[in-house]
Amino acid sequence: KIRVRFAPSPTGPLHIGGVRTALFNYLFAKKHKGDFILRIEDTDQNRYVEGTEDYIIEALNWCGIPFDEGPEKDGGFGPYRQSERKSIYKKYAEELIAKGKAYYAFDSSEELDFHRKDHEAKGKTFIYNWHNRLKLNNSLSRTPEEVQKRLISGKDYVIRFLSPPDEKLILNDSIRGEIEIDTNILDDKVLFKSDGMPTYHLANIVDDHLMEISHVIRGEEWLPSLALHLQLYNAFNWEAPQFAHLPLIMKPTGKGKLSKRDGEKMGFPVFPLSWNESIGYREAGYFPEAVINFLALLGWNPGTEQELFSLEELVDTFSLERVNKSGARFDPEKTKWYNQQYLQKKNDTELADLFRELLVSTKGTDFGKSELYIQKVVSLIKERATFVSDFWELGSYFFEAPTEYNEKAAKKQWKENTPKIMGQLVSVTETIDDFTSENIEASVKTWITKEGFSFGQVMAPLRLAIVGDLKGPHLFDIMELIGNEESIGRIHSAIS
Ligand code: GLU
Repeated sequence: KIRVRFAPSPTGPLHIGGVRTALFNYLFAKKHKGDFILRIEDTDQNRYVEGTEDYIIEALNWCGIPFDEGPEKDGGFGPYRQSERKSIYKKYAEELIAKGKAYYAFDSSEELDFHRKDHEAKGKTFIYNWHNRLKLNNSLSRTPEEVQKRLISGKDYVIRFLSPPDEKLILNDSIRGEIEIDTNILDDKVLFKSDGMPTYHLANIVDDHLMEISHVIRGEEWLPSLALHLQLYNAFNWEAPQFAHLPLIMKPTGKGKLSKRDGEKMGFPVFPLSWNESIGYREAGYFPEAVINFLALLGWNPGTEQELFSLEELVDTFSLERVNKSGARFDPEKTKWYNQQYLQKKNDTELADLFRELLVSTKGTDFGKSELYIQKVVSLIKERATFVSDFWELGSYFFEAPTEYNEKAAKKQWKENTPKIMGQLVSVTETIDDFTSENIEASVKTWITKEGFSFGQVMAPLRLAIVGDLKGPHLFDIMELIGNEESIGRIHSAIS
């Protein structure tokens, strides 16, 4: 059975990189009818940020990629928070000691600092491993009695992995293929601390094993840990899951890794932890479908020109073989394009509801307009919108008469005889019983021809009077919607 997990550390809001990792895990699980598990890796109490877990869950739900198992959703492999699994890890660390694969180390932080500085002074990097471990303060350089005494006396210790010298490891990654590693360069990583907490490495491996994870799909920043992780599986005699490391997400310039600060500069880094923190995709008005779609193409390609994918289509087409090795460039303009595409696909009823909500929350009123009225407005202006929040800018004149007129346009289009022409036009529209776009157009055109006016002579000032500007959809459609009386009122205001 395919079982994958998203294993964030609750240290703050999710980056888009984190959401992408969750998404790829979700797609892979669903494609293979497997399980998608959320595990909270909160062993590092110093970096814990209150509220992050709720926020992560909310973000996954908002994206439409809920987990099958996780906190408060036990699938028989819980608990799913590492802080609640504390009691599990120690025996595994001790098992490795018994097998000679790990050892106690007593070096104080002062001692380690000293070694680091000493090496630095000689232009070297201090690596705690086979070439110096016998000279350091650990159980390998002491008699068993001494070690026992130290442990009993309650001295601080850590448990380190005993990384073997002179071995060539062949690591297998679904995306990167085979990677050869010389164990001489690896350090003896800390697995367990005397405060009773495992480090990330031990907890991660033990949990992936106990939770029967079949595939580990995670960011490339974890590739350097792969050698240790595979050695741990070997040391325990466990079958390792298949690993897949996703490419880095690069800055819009293509140079360097995208960082949280880049996101902040662009205004929407992540999903914010709280509503008032900084702006997130949801708050910026993105649709979850658009976010999912652009995230899927950050590092994965379908092998075709297709760019728009629903979640179901992504599940169908996704495969790890089509995940790229090279970094994926993050393009904020493209994310907007996606949102615009999805906005066009939405039906007017849904968009009208969203627009009404926005009107009420930002203007304090929906201007007493009916459901149908707002739907018609939306259908006329949505073509040019990227976000629902663009609707006001594009169509405020459907709700309020213009209070000012585009000065430049007015100078050019509003001539001396314009008030007279507009006055006549009012008498023409007054006679139109059924005030539809077609009827208005027919009457106005007949009158224009009869009087021998040019089209622009009438239409430009009329648009200024109705809209306040020269922009907007077909003018007679606008007039039909706001109605005869309102149209005439606006013409009168413009003349006076
Ligand atoms: N807790 C790690 C993180 O924050 C998980 C890495 C992994 O998936 O192994 O990303």
